Order: sequence, then C-alpha cells, then structure tokens
Amino acid sequence: MSAVSPGPLQFRLIAKDSKSHARLGQVTTPHGVFDTPAFMSVGTQGTIKGVLPDHVAATGSQIILANTYHLMLRPGEKVVAELGDLHQFMAWPGPILTDSGGFQVFSLADINKITDDGVTFKSHVDGAVIQLTPARSIQVQNDLGADIIMAFDECPPGDAPPQYHREAVERTLRWAAQCQQTHARPHDQALFAIVQGGSDLKLREQCARQLLAMNFPGYAIGGCAVGEGFDAMRQMLAEVAPMLPDNKPRYLMGVGFPRDIVTAVASGVDMFDCVMPTRNGRNAYAFTAHGPLRLRNSRLARDSGPIEQGCDCYACRNFTRGAIRHYFFAGEMLGPVLASVHNMRFYQRLMADIRRAIGAGTFEQFSATDPRCSLGPAQMEQNAAGDEPLNTSARITKETD
Ligand SMILES: [Zn+2]
Repeated sequence: MSAVSPGPLQFRLIAKDSKSHARLGQVTTPHGVFDTPAFMSVGTQGTIKGVLPDHVAATGSQIILANTYHLMLRPGEKVVAELGDLHQFMAWPGPILTDSGGFQVFSLADINKITDDGVTFKSHVDGAVIQLTPARSIQVQNDLGADIIMAFDECPPGDAPPQYHREAVERTLRWAAQCQQTHARPHDQALFAIVQGGSDLKLREQCARQLLAMNFPGYAIGGCAVGEGFDAMRQMLAEVAPMLPDNKPRYLMGVGFPRDIVTAVASGVDMFDCVMPTRNGRNAYAFTAHGPLRLRNSRLARDSGPIEQGCDCYACRNFTRGAIRHYFFAGEMLGPVLASVHNMRFYQRLMADIRRAIGAGTFEQFSATDPRCSLGPAQMEQNAAGDEPLNTSARITKETD
C-alpha cells in the first residue's frame, strides 16, 4: 500500500493499440468509474434535455457534462450547492465534468472586455455585467462539485490571426496557474488543464510543455472543431495528443462527428463531449451507421421498423419510425426524447465498439471497415435534401446544448 494520497482521480491504462496511439483505459472518480475512450453527453443547464437520468444511464453513458457558464448565471452556483451539489441537483450519482465557462463566454456572450485578469461580459439571461476570472470559474466549479473541473482558458476562433493565438496561449498558461492556486477541493475534484494554440504546432507544443510542468491530473485539447477543418484537426491531434502524459486522461473538447472521434482515438485521446446527438435528436435527426435518418420524412409515415435496425436503445426496442414521425408532427414531447435517446445510444455503442476493438487488437481494421467510422459532415448531410441542415456546430450556439 502506498502512503501517498491517490488524489481525486485514477487513470488505469488497460491496453494500447499496436498500430496506432489508441488506448483502452478506465478512470476512477469519487462518484464512480468510467471506461475510456468515453463520450460524455452534454447536460448544459443541469439536465440532458428531456431525458430522465435512468434513461441516460441506460444508453451506456457513464459520465456526463454540465456547463459552468449557464449554471453560474441561472440558478447560480450557490443555489446548486445549497440543493446538495450537481450530482444531487441533476439526480446523476455518477461522474460529472464541468467546463470552465470560458468557451461559452468567448463564443456566445456579449463580451465587453478581455484583459489579463479575465473576461467581462453581459449575461444573456438578465443583461447583468459579469466578470469571469480564473479564480471565479474555479470557485463556481468548486461549488457545483463535479468530479472533473476545467481550467479557465481562452479559446480563439480557428481563423484568428497568429498573434491572437500566441496571446491566448500566454493567457491560458497564466490562467491555468491561477486556477491551480485557487482550487479549493484538489482532494476530490480533478482539475484538467487545456492545451490551446490553434493549428500552430509549435505553439501547441509550447503550451503543452508548460502545462505538463504544472502537473495536472488530466489534460484537454481545446480549440478544435472551431472551423479549422478535418485535415488540420487530424494533423494537430497526431502531433499534440502523444505529447500528453501516458498515465493521465486526455480529453478533446467539443468533438464531434463519429469520424472525428475515431481519428482522435487513433491519436490517443480518451474523452469526448459534443451536443450533436442530443441537439440533432431534438431536431428530428437520427444517427444511423449509414447516415442520417430524417424523422419528419414523409416516406416514414407507415414505416413499422425501428429508427435503426439492430439498435438496442429504448426507442428502437419500443417504437416504430412511423410513430416517432407522428410525434414530431404533432408536437409531442416524446419525439425529441426518443430521438435523443437513440442518438445517445448510437454514440455509446460506437464508443463501446471502439473499446472492444482496442482490447481485441483489431482497432485498425475496425476503423477502416466499420461504416460509422467515416461519418463526417458530408455523409451526415446526404439523404437530407430539402430538410433542415444538420446542426454541426460543436458548442457555438445560443441554443444551450
Ligand atoms: Zn436506437
């Protein structure tokens, strides 16, 4: 037995793929265990929209994400803390991760000022002027009580000029140190740092090296899926992910399409989150291995099959395409709920199959032959002529998850 305190999080590396950097692992938190590579469904406002926690768990989700920015503005972190903490508030006893609020402030808030201290912005809820600093973000996340919390970083748009990326990295590094210093619950909340730097590999490397020296329990790669394109992202991941420590979890924030996830797993990434399954589910888009199924399509009116043949989710086991199409047209809540459940299960089945393939030493074959592994924006938009476009933005939207 070691006398050293194990800290708030343990990462166990179970297997490594011999032909790529893909890893199979398991993370233990104070609220339980999750298997990696893991996909986190997004519960922005302290709930995964429309889906009961039992059904979230039944999709195979082991860890979920909530947004600091939204919960800080409403109902306020002190209210959540008074009501127990985020686990009780959301009735989710398992692992939870909160982001820092940085991404939302930089992407959706009406920003008044960015300084070296933090960001001043106008609340989208009541117009109040609020300052978010590294210390404030950590205090809010300490009050919310998630198992994994994120350092407050600056996330510039993908097409920002190089000078802005350099300044953002400098701030991100300074802010990471401040987050670490003000973190009041290091014994039961694991603080992850975020590597920024855009598509500039040198800058990414410099950022990663300095953050590694600060010894965080986990590391995230930020600033992806912000319009830089798939090839740029793949190149960056292939270089940056292996720079991060072998013995700690690596989290790619806000990504994304199945194709992007599989590519990132091959680079050695362990954790993902994205609003795509739930947001698109609500909008009558179902993910299937062979592309999207638009649930409002008239050809489904009398279709007695499930959303996806072979899917074991609650929606596919119990409801026909025709019934679900009817719910969407009738404005019934169950339409968006069932489509969300199916899409969440689609992502969790993909992750489970990825894990199985890594464990069996067949990941390369799996990623080359399974049709899900090539689902990117082009595949997800085919078959959808005349329909509403698929919502592909990772997290940049006024809609909140
Ligand atoms: Zn299903």
